[in-house]
Amino acid sequence: MPAIYLIDVTNRDGVQTAKLGLSKLEKTMLNIYLNEMGVFQSEFGFPTTRHETNYIEANLELAEIGVLKPIRLEGWIRAIVDDVEQTFQMIPNINHLNLSISTSDQMINGKFQGRKTRDDVLKDMTAAVTAARAHGAESIGANAEDASRTDLNYLVEFAQAAKEHGADRVRYCDTLGYDNPFTIYETVRTVAEKAQIPIELHCHNDLGMAVANSIAGAMGVIDGGQDAYINTTVNGIGERAGNADLIAVILAIKKSKEFAGTYELANNIDLSKAWKIAKFASYAFGVPIPINQPGVGANAFAHESGIHADGVLKDPENYELYDYEELGRGEAELVETGREICTGEYGGISGFSHIMGQLEVPVKWQTREKANEILELVRYANVESQKPLVEDQLLFIAKYPGIAKKLLTLTPLE
Ligand SMILES: [Zn+2]
Repeated sequence: MPAIYLIDVTNRDGVQTAKLGLSKLEKTMLNIYLNEMGVFQSEFGFPTTRHETNYIEANLELAEIGVLKPIRLEGWIRAIVDDVEQTFQMIPNINHLNLSISTSDQMINGKFQGRKTRDDVLKDMTAAVTAARAHGAESIGANAEDASRTDLNYLVEFAQAAKEHGADRVRYCDTLGYDNPFTIYETVRTVAEKAQIPIELHCHNDLGMAVANSIAGAMGVIDGGQDAYINTTVNGIGERAGNADLIAVILAIKKSKEFAGTYELANNIDLSKAWKIAKFASYAFGVPIPINQPGVGANAFAHESGIHADGVLKDPENYELYDYEELGRGEAELVETGREICTGEYGGISGFSHIMGQLEVPVKWQTREKANEILELVRYANVESQKPLVEDQLLFIAKYPGIAKKLLTLTPLE
């Protein structure tokens, strides 16, 4: 039975959002949390972008030593041979790629402005897939940008050509959030049936339907006999109105009426990490979680009106669809209300030792030399993120100082 896989694209679509960004250490922490949750794949960056090189290599190293395992780390590039060649020149050991090209007449005419035809798009994509295969890529997705405004027959042709040339999946991009659950269901079901290739659903939220479209799309792909891969971002952060929110997508798959049991996640997802990853992404992006966000919003389990409060006290199931503990909520969080010692880019050893002591860092890290080395890296990490590091970041640096050093080194252009 075909199933649903999750590909989180926060570290690609999320960070390319206007006015928002993440430090390389923050991107790494997100990969770690996604892996802990059981997310199948993280679109972790841009292999052809120079300032990403050390970050990408450091994360592939983390995969090698088992820290980022079993999650797949996949890079996003344009579906042209030049980008594939440059990718394997810069990151020879990258295993997973998504190759993206526009497929709608709107984009072909409006973006390429006569420089490319529909045939050229197919030629570029298939040549890029072939090149990536030749370089030994383990998995390849061929992305149809603006798929929802693409002629259906041409989209099927695109998917068939991708499959023939060895792509593992096609990404159906509802780039403008134009679809609705009914249209996306029909379209991707047809593509799945005709081209017989697994399909990714990449949905945007311009009409407020990103999650609903992802779910309906997954249903269509599975009904068409193929595996479905839903693209998510943490807290729905993404271009313009954003993407499909990771936690809401998981909740919808697991809890929505008549969905669970028929359309299942392929991987075991540990929803109890939801609270942690949502809070971290909110802090790292500097974007508050909306009060009414599914599962992780401040009001997601709040009841005030007489009838509701009375009902939920008698039996939570009267007014709650799922339990807060399932999402990792319910533990008290310590907030310092008195004197506070922070680490920062100009911090010193005694404040730093105090903080690491509070975190109960194992004794072997607490030699003076080691502490100085880690403090130096923490100061660099602060320069990069311009905000105090969270506990997990400090522990990460203390545990993997060599990898942290690589992450924090942005080698300038030659
Ligand atoms: Zn997107």
